[in-house]
Amino acid sequence: MILGFIDHDRGKLDEISLEMLTLGRQLAQEESTELAAVLIGEAARPLLPQLAAYGVTTTYLIQHDNLDDYAPEAWAQSIVELIGTASPQAVLAPGTDRGYEVLAHVAARLDLPLAANVTAVTPGDEYQVIRLRWGGSLLEEASLKGKPKLLTIAPHALAAEEGSGVSETAVHTITPTLNDKDFRVRVTNRVSSGQDGISLTEARVVVGGGRGVGSPEGFAVLEELATLLHGAVGGSRVATNLGWRPHADQIGQTGTRIAPDLYIACGISGAIQHWVGCKGAKRILAINTDAEAPMVTKANYAVIGDLHEVLPAIIAEIQKS
Ligand SMILES: Cc1cc2nc3c(=O)[nH]c(=O)nc-3n(C[C@H](O)[C@H](O)[C@H](O)COP(=O)(O)OP(=O)(O)OC[C@H]3O[C@@H](n4cnc5c(N)ncnc54)[C@H](O)[C@@H]3O)c2cc1C
Repeated sequence: MILGFIDHDRGKLDEISLEMLTLGRQLAQEESTELAAVLIGEAARPLLPQLAAYGVTTTYLIQHDNLDDYAPEAWAQSIVELIGTASPQAVLAPGTDRGYEVLAHVAARLDLPLAANVTAVTPGDEYQVIRLRWGGSLLEEASLKGKPKLLTIAPHALAAEEGSGVSETAVHTITPTLNDKDFRVRVTNRVSSGQDGISLTEARVVVGGGRGVGSPEGFAVLEELATLLHGAVGGSRVATNLGWRPHADQIGQTGTRIAPDLYIACGISGAIQHWVGCKGAKRILAINTDAEAPMVTKANYAVIGDLHEVLPAIIAEIQKS
């Protein structure tokens, strides 16, 4: 059995999990075994039909009074217990904050190796994996041992694709034995960031701003364009370090990795640490005063000019149509 850990927040699926299930299904086919999933918390039950659509034949639904909200060690311990009873060949997690954190705890508790940011797997006694290193600028070939094999799947390494042939997933409910220590880290309160709207990872259009935007107020025109295109606004590390945007908006190696249909990079030079976070975009439009900027040379389209003149012109054209 290949077991996939499904990342969700109180029942709201992180769709990177579907990419992980797509790779898990291919692996299960190659290994002539089934694809199973582990869902933590009763709030996630509505996700079951979606898991069936991705080829999950069996789902382990972990139930516990204190597991409605995220608690990394408790989630990991629940998976460790499940591994003990279900004996999967491999456990896969999506390349999300929770996916990385939970599987790292699982690996530590079982004293097993973990291959992070995997993009391709060839099964065998040892798995041959390709994984992203150095923020995605290098690909590494590696062998992975362990029973079970533990892997996180790099976000946007492959497209999520539904499978066929599974109409319903069989559900096994499990109540793990957890103690106070497993809840040392847990969610105790939630404070809204004040940004309701579409998240950077889900947006089909992202408008990003860098040093060239010039000020926090300069982002108003980016916000206006993003609203018109039903998209989200992000920024470079310079924009977040200068306090023009919250850290949650940072795109890049130490920020969020995005994969929209269109990324409009405004006043961003395209340093490698930024590029690795946006190279998953299907199309990139760079707006920059410097025709030699790496973002301009790598983008599909570029407008050479001052973003504070170019963006209002684009907005005016969209408003005409
Ligand atoms: C370990 C590490 C991790 C990092 N992680 C990240 C990360 O996650 N994300 C990230 O973004 N960076 C990251 N960085 C920083 C990265 O190296 C760059 O410094 C940063 O991305 C540059 O931001 P920028 O493009 O906004 O600024 P700059 O490099 O200063 O570029 C500004 C651009 O704006 C253009 N410009 C200026 N005025 C205008 C105008 N009026 N109209 C149009 N264009 C204009 C300029 O021509 C220039 O190309 C990291 C660095 C390190 C060392």
